[in-house]
Amino acid sequence: MKEDYITFTIAEKKNIALIAHDNEKPKLIEWCAENYDILKEHNLCGTGTTARMIADKTGLYIKAYNSGPLGGDQQIGAKIVEGVIDFVVFFSDPLTAQPHDPDVKALMRISQVYDIPMAINKATADFMIQSKFMNKKYDHQVINFHKNVSDRAKSL
Ligand code: PGA
Repeated sequence: MKEDYITFTIAEKKNIALIAHDNEKPKLIEWCAENYDILKEHNLCGTGTTARMIADKTGLYIKAYNSGPLGGDQQIGAKIVEGVIDFVVFFSDPLTAQPHDPDVKALMRISQVYDIPMAINKATADFMIQSKFMNKKYDHQVINFHKNVSDRAKSL
């Protein structure tokens, strides 16, 4: 049973993805400005428009992927699978239909699969960024995909 999971470590310096739907962008930019001193110590990335606006308005250095509706959420999901992103702040809009809703759901799902801390609103983001784990390594258990594949290949 134990080997069904392996230990992954989220390092002291986090790889943080920042994403906001259009109506939520002002709130995320303000949140980034409020938390500038903490965020500048970590590696930041985000979907295209969000990343550009955060960089322009706060001066934080942030790597930009594609715009969300053009595949940026999927790129961030893929980076989670590769172990390159380990912390997500996603101010999603619960009141507006999104053309890329399946991508948004996929990103949320893959964050669950890889046990990635993910805030989908400001209160959660506040609690996460004030967590004692922000300055520490954090070990967590993630499904052992080698074993999963080999078990499935044998049993199916
Ligand atoms: P954007 O994408 O930052 O390019 O606007 C965000 C999203 O809607 O997923």
